[in-house]
Amino acid sequence: MHYFHTRDESAEILRRALQMMAPHNVGFHPLSYAVWYEHAAYLNPGLSRDLEKLISRESVLTEADVARLYALHIGARDVEAFERAQSQLRKLLEDTATGAASAQSAAVQFTHNLEDVFKELEQPTDTVALKRMVAELLSHAQSMHLITSEFSQKLATNGAEVATVIERLERAQTEPLRDPLTGLNNRHGFQRAADGLGTSVSNLNGVALLAADIDHFKKINDTHGHVIGDKVLLKIAQILRTHIKAQDIASRLGGDEFAVLLPGMSLAAAAALAEQIRMSVARTLISRLDGVEYVGQVSLSIGLAVGEKDDTLESLRHRADAAMYRAKDAGRNRVSLAAQRIPTAASAQTEKQAG
Ligand code: GH3
Ligand code: MG
Repeated sequence: MHYFHTRDESAEILRRALQMMAPHNVGFHPLSYAVWYEHAAYLNPGLSRDLEKLISRESVLTEADVARLYALHIGARDVEAFERAQSQLRKLLEDTATGAASAQSAAVQFTHNLEDVFKELEQPTDTVALKRMVAELLSHAQSMHLITSEFSQKLATNGAEVATVIERLERAQTEPLRDPLTGLNNRHGFQRAADGLGTSVSNLNGVALLAADIDHFKKINDTHGHVIGDKVLLKIAQILRTHIKAQDIASRLGGDEFAVLLPGMSLAAAAALAEQIRMSVARTLISRLDGVEYVGQVSLSIGLAVGEKDDTLESLRHRADAAMYRAKDAGRNRVSLAAQRIPTAASAQTEKQAG
């Protein structure tokens, strides 16, 4: 995030932010200051909304509240999209300013022309000279009309575009990339991270996708309540994290649906990893708040597919999801693999031998 305030403006925001921070039980460190600065400067509407909601409920905020606000509204913000929209906006404004400058210089020129005609009219003038002056004035008026109408057209199109870019800017500013409950990527963050794997169409070639959905999660919620349901979601996120490497992209796509992108992993290696994850979840016991009762067995149905030439995230997800639904149909708590669309040399050989 680039803050664009001048020294004086930021000093004023600092004064307001410090005043706002004072009543709360939070240290004056960079993280809390970022939260209050963006709030005091009206920079982050989503953050302000949540912060005000918290204050109205708890009146005094704690370190944990502020850390959560930071993670959700600042740390996880889509900086790249924000900066892109910011630079588009700058270009549009520059273009508009150039148009305004040429319209203004045409108007100044026209005023000079008028003054010249007035001066000439102070002398005795014949009809031929008068006709020439009128013709010249008309031609200057026409060219000024052309420039100003071009400018007003530009103003209209740029104005509409500015409105769209500002909307994009606001969305990038407030739309988080992470799921607030588990801290994993959300759907938007997942797409963004997948885009980051490369820009060519074959960027998903050789990337395994693990699609997991909790079995009978509705029943867990209905029997034990949503707090326990959330605990189960958190536990699964934690298990996913412990099984993957730094370059892998784990996400909670929504509800009880998880996805992990595993770059450079073969179907066999991904299947072994998925099996470890499945077993780890099935072994997990989740205690109630009183620590006595346990949720019955929690399990995952997992589908796996490996990206091939020309795969998009959508087509790869489609195959991994279809495999996950086959795991559900086959009785849940299992891993199912999507068939490869283009047989590899090894699999073609195996098919030939089998035939
Ligand atoms: P299946 O084995 O076929 O997947 O059955 P299921 O009961 O898990 O069905 P489904 O996947 O459709 O259920 C998703 C449930 O997840 C429905 C909804 O109540 C619950 N859910 C969605 N988001 C949350 C959340 O943030 N917290 C909690 N506790 N529950 C959630
Ligand atoms: Mg489910």
